[in-house]
Amino acid sequence: MTFSSLGLAPALLNAITETGYSTPTAIQTAAIPPALRGADVLGQAQTGSGKTAAFALPLLNALLAAGRPASGTRKLYALVLAPTRELAAQVGETLRGLASHLPVPVKVSVAFGGVSINPQMMALRGGADIMVATPGRLLDLVDHNALKLDGASVLVLDEADKLLDMGFADEIARIMALLPARRQNLFFSATFPPAVQALAGKLLHEPVRVAT
Ligand code: AMP
Repeated sequence: MTFSSLGLAPALLNAITETGYSTPTAIQTAAIPPALRGADVLGQAQTGSGKTAAFALPLLNALLAAGRPASGTRKLYALVLAPTRELAAQVGETLRGLASHLPVPVKVSVAFGGVSINPQMMALRGGADIMVATPGRLLDLVDHNALKLDGASVLVLDEADKLLDMGFADEIARIMALLPARRQNLFFSATFPPAVQALAGKLLHEPVRVAT
């Protein structure tokens, strides 16, 4: 399998080469084509499987196709929820790294709790294309009017099992109510205990199931 057979835009293939990826991982091969079609995806994937790029590449492909404004206010395209500060920072880095090789500017904002909210609010002035956040801090930003979710097109849950383990069920429910009902959902989890299956059932619409 090659990246060029997955349906990604040429500019993104170039960014992938520049990043140093030569062949797609199993989760990327399985998840990228349905994600590019706009389908919901239910992915079973461990850390280290390349799951971040499995959702990052389709998000960037869509932004590339849409042509983003170089300045002015950006409408949020995608929200990525991650359970921990470390994972949010890592996902943000992967997105920014890939985006840095694209011919259009893509603004990725990262926010997590445990640090002052003010710099995160400042960073959101003018909006963002992709917001990566832990659920509690994301809601704090919404409550401070730093970010609106009602125009977002895609919701990504990264490490859904860990999100629930960390007690974020109520926050996720509130965030889902703030997002448009019609949206694409990309759901990744390493394990599928009943609580994760129930969340996936609530969140996903006719998902394509992929595993590594
Ligand atoms: P992840 O599972 O998303 O945490 O990714 C694990 C590691 O694999 C990260 O360091 C990525 O940069 C790297 N990676 C992701 N996709 C590929 C690929 N197709 N080829 C080589 N390395 C990759």
